[in-house]
Amino acid sequence: MAIGVKVVARPIEQVSYMRATLKGMALTFKHLVNPHKVTTQYPEEKEPISRRWRGTHRMLTDETGKAKCVACGLCPQICPANCIKLVPGEDEEGNRYPLVYEIDEFRCIFCGYCQEVCPEEAIHVGRHYENAEYSRAGFVYDLERLTAQTHPVCEMWDPDDPKGE
Ligand code: SF4
Ligand code: SF4
Repeated sequence: MAIGVKVVARPIEQVSYMRATLKGMALTFKHLVNPHKVTTQYPEEKEPISRRWRGTHRMLTDETGKAKCVACGLCPQICPANCIKLVPGEDEEGNRYPLVYEIDEFRCIFCGYCQEVCPEEAIHVGRHYENAEYSRAGFVYDLERLTAQTHPVCEMWDPDDPKGE
């Protein structure tokens, strides 16, 4: 059986590359004469990042320097990436604390749920992104490393300030 081929005629503006080419060249020319510098000389120069940036975690500490975490278990429970490891401990007065607390920054999807759910405002995602490592193991942050972070923490979405202004 012969196969029929139907040729569909398309309007000239959809098949011509001329208009798109001219548009692209006009944009290039605009940048050529525009004195505005668009290249940031990273890492010497850095662009400001949003107050809601969700990056490298940070564990806040109390006035004695102890991690504020009370090992309630909420953050590993809610973490969609299953990247928080918590082993809870309890002192002689019944106060809970983390014996082991680790976050695998490589698996983390930086959703910020851990920060939102934490009743002690202990764990935070941070306004920080320079966390490259040479080894896979280097991405696992233990409690000591999490508490040693000093970068600013993320400000969560506020319904009274939806655009974060
Ligand atoms: S930011 Fe999200 S994915 Fe990352 S540790 Fe927290 S809850 Fe898990
Ligand atoms: S939610 Fe907060 S207090 Fe609870 S285990 Fe996580 S960091 Fe600790």
